[in-house]
Amino acid sequence: MFKAFLIKYGEIGIKGKNRYLFEDALVKQIRHALKEVEGEFYVHKEQGRIYVDCLSVFDFEETVEALQRVFGIVGICPVVKVDDDGFDSLASNVIDYMSQVHPDNNQTFKVNARRARKNYPMTSMELNCDLGERILEAFDGMKVDVHKPEILLNVEIREKIYIYSKIIPGPGGMPVGTNGKAMLLLSGGIDSPVAGYMISKRGVKIDAVYFHAPPYTSERAKQKVVDLAKLVSRYSGPINLHVVNFTDIQLYIYDKCPHEELTIIMRRYMMRIAEHFAKETGCLGLITGESIGQVASQTMQSLAATNEVCTLPVFRPVIGFDKQEIVDVSLKIGTYETSILPFEDCCTIFVAKHPVTKPNINIIKRSEVSLEEKIEELMKTAIETTETIWVE
Ligand code: ATP
Ligand code: MG
Repeated sequence: MFKAFLIKYGEIGIKGKNRYLFEDALVKQIRHALKEVEGEFYVHKEQGRIYVDCLSVFDFEETVEALQRVFGIVGICPVVKVDDDGFDSLASNVIDYMSQVHPDNNQTFKVNARRARKNYPMTSMELNCDLGERILEAFDGMKVDVHKPEILLNVEIREKIYIYSKIIPGPGGMPVGTNGKAMLLLSGGIDSPVAGYMISKRGVKIDAVYFHAPPYTSERAKQKVVDLAKLVSRYSGPINLHVVNFTDIQLYIYDKCPHEELTIIMRRYMMRIAEHFAKETGCLGLITGESIGQVASQTMQSLAATNEVCTLPVFRPVIGFDKQEIVDVSLKIGTYETSILPFEDCCTIFVAKHPVTKPNINIIKRSEVSLEEKIEELMKTAIETTETIWVE
């Protein structure tokens, strides 16, 4: 029965020029999300509203699910469209609508008519009163409540007439592309896909970098990261994934530095390389899935040591989350099942038995001096041989 959706979006802070940018980005993201849904859709902006008209047969659930992945959408209202064949015909359509969508008659309602087409022969006030009366006549238990109705029945007069009353919640946030771009350090774990999702929710477009260490990490482990990027891209839009071969750098650090410092030094080189790609591609920050105290490399001291090599801001959206809270988000967004597949990631292979938990930045820097001879060249090679995968 539904033939269109009215898209509701938050309007705080989107005045003036920003409003157009926000709406245009939202329209673009809606079109992108609907590409994978079967059916023909026409997404358009009209008088400060966004509509999705369904031009062919479509799957309602699938369409709603796709729209629920578009950041910036606060509510999705399924719309019944009827022809304008005079008031009596409209009234009977409205009664049909009420009996199908709100079969429970013991509710309060209010009609909210709106004339987008000004040549319609009745004013919105007249429509409100006359349609309200017809509903009262048709259903016994229905009562009008103009202040806090349980059902707000919207009737919009356009070329056709739009009837809607349900609001399905959207994901909130801001449309991707309205807040610049950032580089996500994406591993095969649970946390970093969630981190990418959270920053993307604020309108930030994301690219990603993954460090792999063949033959210590397998093709399957890499494929898992590509799969995770694909799952995140359902929300964030396409992701350019940089796959860096990190093996020689890791082996070199392993060879030259105290083993208890391996993870920290390795993480510092990851950040340096990620920042290189971030700057090259216009990213304004880095994103990681770190959470205070989760592992040795995420104590306050370790985070400070990792952070110290970066000049771009590092965004850590799950920093204050417990593991279970991160897991809950990953279940919600559908990355959990993939994240827990048991493929090694490059950090687990080179971990020391007793890693430092309170690294001293000066000591770490001193250890890095022993890498001076070859590290620049190894970083250059790693950057030059990076494979870029377009994920969507
Ligand atoms: P995750 O669940 O994201 O793997 P984690 O709890 O396993 O996180 P660490 O392995 O310590 O934590 O990594 C901390 C963060 O560093 C990750 O969230 C991710 O952003 C980044 N990171 C770690 N390993 C890699 C890698 N191989 N490639 C890219 N980023 C990585
Ligand atoms: Mg990890």
